[in-house]
Amino acid sequence: MERSYLIKPILDAVYPTIDYGKGVYLYDKNQKDYIDGSSGAVTASIGHGVPEIIKAINDQANKVSFVYRSQFTSEPAERLAKKLSELTPGDLHWSFFVNSGSEATETAMKIAIQYWQEQGIFTKNKIISRFISYHGITLGALSMSGHVGRRERFIPLLEEFPSVSAPYCYRCPFKLTYPSCDLLCASELEKTIQRMGKQTIAAFIAEPIIGAAGGAIVPPEGYYQEIKEICERNDILFIADEVMTGIGRTGKMLAIEHWNVQPDIVALGKGMSAGYTPMAATIVSDRVMEPILQGSKVIMSGHTYSANPQSAAVSLAVLDYIEKLQLIDRGHMMGNYLLHKLATLANEFSFIGDVRGKGLLIGIEFVYDKEKKIPIKLATVVIQKAMEHGLLVYPSSAGEEGITGDAILISPPLVITKEEVDELVTRLKRALVEVE
Ligand code: PLP
Repeated sequence: MERSYLIKPILDAVYPTIDYGKGVYLYDKNQKDYIDGSSGAVTASIGHGVPEIIKAINDQANKVSFVYRSQFTSEPAERLAKKLSELTPGDLHWSFFVNSGSEATETAMKIAIQYWQEQGIFTKNKIISRFISYHGITLGALSMSGHVGRRERFIPLLEEFPSVSAPYCYRCPFKLTYPSCDLLCASELEKTIQRMGKQTIAAFIAEPIIGAAGGAIVPPEGYYQEIKEICERNDILFIADEVMTGIGRTGKMLAIEHWNVQPDIVALGKGMSAGYTPMAATIVSDRVMEPILQGSKVIMSGHTYSANPQSAAVSLAVLDYIEKLQLIDRGHMMGNYLLHKLATLANEFSFIGDVRGKGLLIGIEFVYDKEKKIPIKLATVVIQKAMEHGLLVYPSSAGEEGITGDAILISPPLVITKEEVDELVTRLKRALVEVE
């Protein structure tokens, strides 16, 4: 093979060269097929090669692909913002477009701090986040991330944001059991606020279902209701990081809707444009926008490609497609079917400790033995074996040895059929048999 100058995740690893994709399948240059069992990085949520999206790309490119947001607005950007204000719950009416999930969470953090500044409060500039979390790779987003593996090289540059436990019932941080635990993981937030002083805290950020750092960790019932009450009682904004969970991935438009809790700010990415173009957004409530509209009238953030008409048109087409095919309901149904099949499969393997998730965001956590739940590092080998058998799955771990388990995410496109789910599970089983 010719020498490569592309910096890849692992420099000396050999990656297959992709040729094309259709539906839930990807094909490499050797015509080997792969079921995209993770939608790439939980992104390609409507599958590959969708003609409607390709048409939208071409139509917009034939008009204009780029204008700068301080010089022009555009119909696609305006329509996308309106559509998102209708699709998201409550008064989440305002969209700030960016290009990646990291930019979306970092913008959310900045808007939260600005919200207090616009009211003359300059001390509230810390964010509380959870251990076992991932909010992105840029320095602000990484500061909020409880992901040891991704932080460690840059610790001198980062804020100490992660400070409360994750609602991780399978390995309860307090060694308690739900419901007798009285949701100590939620009340810990209030204790932490008291310790740090609420006058110093702008917001609390959380992934409604923990993705890349934990393997689809779903909190216990009542957790988010209590979190929201604590935030309100202490004048702290609640930011839902829905970069992975948003746009139907878990069976609702936003995952936080499973608990009927209203965030003040939401970060979206990944599924927003389903991989067809870089696109992400920070969605802001009327309540948070009000002092900014009354005050400086400028959100101090933005990128060259923010709100570009090309990405906006693609994202609009993706949302229309999801609506037309009712993919959120379908993902919910297929998710239940897949979860059930994977839970049954788990009985056959001693090293599968937990299968969990919602909709088509499902995690499998590996252990030495089911009873003792001792974590085992198996994700890399499972991913490798699955790839050999034509299945893509996604790694998930916060990189904290002995504290979080090693897990994989299974998150196929929402368009997956029952037969394709069956094939996915067959290929996964072939891989797991070789791991045993
Ligand atoms: N937030 C969450 C919950 C994520 O899962 C990710 C990426 O995996 C990000 C933020 C960062 O998004 P990006 O990789 O697009 O910057």
